[in-house]
Amino acid sequence: MNSFQIRLAAFSFLSSQRIIVVWLSNKCQKHMRCPFCTANDTKVIDSRLTNEGDQVKRRRECVSCKERFTTFEVAALTLPRIVKRDGTREQFQEDKLRAGMIRALEKRSVDSERIEASISQIKKQLASCGERELAANVLGEMVMTELKTLDHVAFVRFASVYRSFQDVSDFTEMIKSLQKQ
Ligand SMILES: [Zn+2]
Repeated sequence: MNSFQIRLAAFSFLSSQRIIVVWLSNKCQKHMRCPFCTANDTKVIDSRLTNEGDQVKRRRECVSCKERFTTFEVAALTLPRIVKRDGTREQFQEDKLRAGMIRALEKRSVDSERIEASISQIKKQLASCGERELAANVLGEMVMTELKTLDHVAFVRFASVYRSFQDVSDFTEMIKSLQKQ
């Protein structure tokens, strides 16, 4: 395996594990250390988008030893896997999140644009938390925070299912806390 193949293999492995991969930020595009002689000065000789535009592949050449190598640049938008209560893991599913929120918002007057904005907000939080895995209840709390700003009825609907209220007093507590706000 040459250096390019090793990097490619490493990249494929990391991608398949859905690990956040940022090999280069914009700042260090020019100053990429040569993996052969560790010189700091390498030049980009070719740069292209791959994987439907969500990766930038750069072919580089070391100014000192003239060796060539390839780097990949991807945006860190990999979302953590969700760990459910029973310990099983699943990929975050945007459709599932949307369906759950829409179910809670049924027959309420909240327009789709606001729902989509909330979903984006949740995804942004997931992407920026920097975790590979996240407990389902943390995601549930994020959803409740968003629903609370969208519609109190939807919030109560969601929370009652989600927190599996045992009796009426749980409900009353929640309504009280909403009224205080
Ligand atoms: Zn070099």
